[in-house]
Amino acid sequence: MKRESAEVVIVGGGALGTSVAHHLAELGVADVVLLERDQLGSGSTSKSAGGFRLQFADELNVRIALRSLAGLERLDDVDLRQVGYLFLIDSDGDLAAFREALALQQSLGVPSGELSVEEALALVPQLDPDGLVGATFCPLDGYATPEGVVQAYARSAAKRGIRIRQGEPVTEIRVTGGRIEAVETPSRRIATGTVVCAAGAWSGELAALAGIELPVSGQARWLHYSPASGGLADDTPMTIDFATGFYFHREGPGLVFGGREATLEELAVPASRRLPLLAELPIQASWWGYYEQSPDHNAIVGEVSEPSRFLYGTGFSGHGFQQTPAVGEHLAQLVAGLEPALDLSPFSVDRFGRGELREERFVV
Ligand SMILES: Cc1cc2nc3c(=O)[nH]c(=O)nc-3n(C[C@H](O)[C@H](O)[C@H](O)COP(=O)(O)OP(=O)(O)OC[C@H]3O[C@@H](n4cnc5c(N)ncnc54)[C@H](O)[C@@H]3O)c2cc1C
Repeated sequence: MKRESAEVVIVGGGALGTSVAHHLAELGVADVVLLERDQLGSGSTSKSAGGFRLQFADELNVRIALRSLAGLERLDDVDLRQVGYLFLIDSDGDLAAFREALALQQSLGVPSGELSVEEALALVPQLDPDGLVGATFCPLDGYATPEGVVQAYARSAAKRGIRIRQGEPVTEIRVTGGRIEAVETPSRRIATGTVVCAAGAWSGELAALAGIELPVSGQARWLHYSPASGGLADDTPMTIDFATGFYFHREGPGLVFGGREATLEELAVPASRRLPLLAELPIQASWWGYYEQSPDHNAIVGEVSEPSRFLYGTGFSGHGFQQTPAVGEHLAQLVAGLEPALDLSPFSVDRFGRGELREERFVV
């Protein structure tokens, strides 16, 4: 067994783990090993639709989104496409909730706004507006390439001396007297006092190795790719049929779309109702990945009290790719003992023990 030591071990090489590595490197903390059991980005990150939005209902998520967008804008080669998110709304109850959220977003400087159904159709003329009562749009929202983000962060971290090890599954976390002593893979033992859990949907299993309970579970979600665009303009927004969860955006020469359904046949019902041309398009590829679901659809971020120096970020519930710039920065600041730029303590895992769920309503 190989032996080494590190001030910090990050477990997981997705958008979050690499973001933590990048931000630690930026803070001058370079005695760090990142362990990824497979390849960088091979978990949920590479399966993601890559969407980012400022349109959330929870104030903390809007603040995370603003900070994350600023982070994404600083990265090279991530194909940032700010074409906006268009939410389509089909009930007065949802419209009222979106209006309330728009007021919150605007109070924080977000240029989101309500659109009439006609204005939504002007953006995406191919939609069937049947049953819609309104829409919202924010021009700063959009999508990027998740693998590009992982590579940009990993490059930045590796350049400054952070050791990135792929093909290394963490199988043990050694704890003595309430302190972490080492992390082990089948071929390596790394003496360390600090672990950052960035293991995505598998964070519950990883935390359990240190006797910690993180309430996160994997929920399989599918995406489909058509090489044909059906005439949708290049700058078509990421469009979301809020009630059904069906969404689509342009991808290369074609488009990508997904929803809550497990099969293409089931998804075809809400999808072709809202975007009828989809029924005519060829499907070239379908794939799935896990949403890391938390009990209240909000992230689980923080540091446990025991054992000492175990930090975690998971439970993103479908909006993890876009939150990882700010959450990675936050975890790096906690590791380094700095005052965090954002107070994310309301997202601590302790909230579940206290029975204080913090629901994010705008989940896709
Ligand atoms: C179909 C789909 C569409 C999505 N669309 C969006 C979207 O539009 N916008 C958005 O913001 N989010 C979206 N998401 C969610 C997003 O993909 C995730 O929230 C995000 O990628 C989580 O990143 P992560 O780094 O925390 O986890 P992951 O990318 O899953 O990384 C965790 C890594 O940990 C590794 N690992 C696990 N256990 C161990 C271990 N014991 N030892 C070593 N390594 C380990 C895994 O191999 C994995 O690579 C989508 C997800 C899916 C499935």
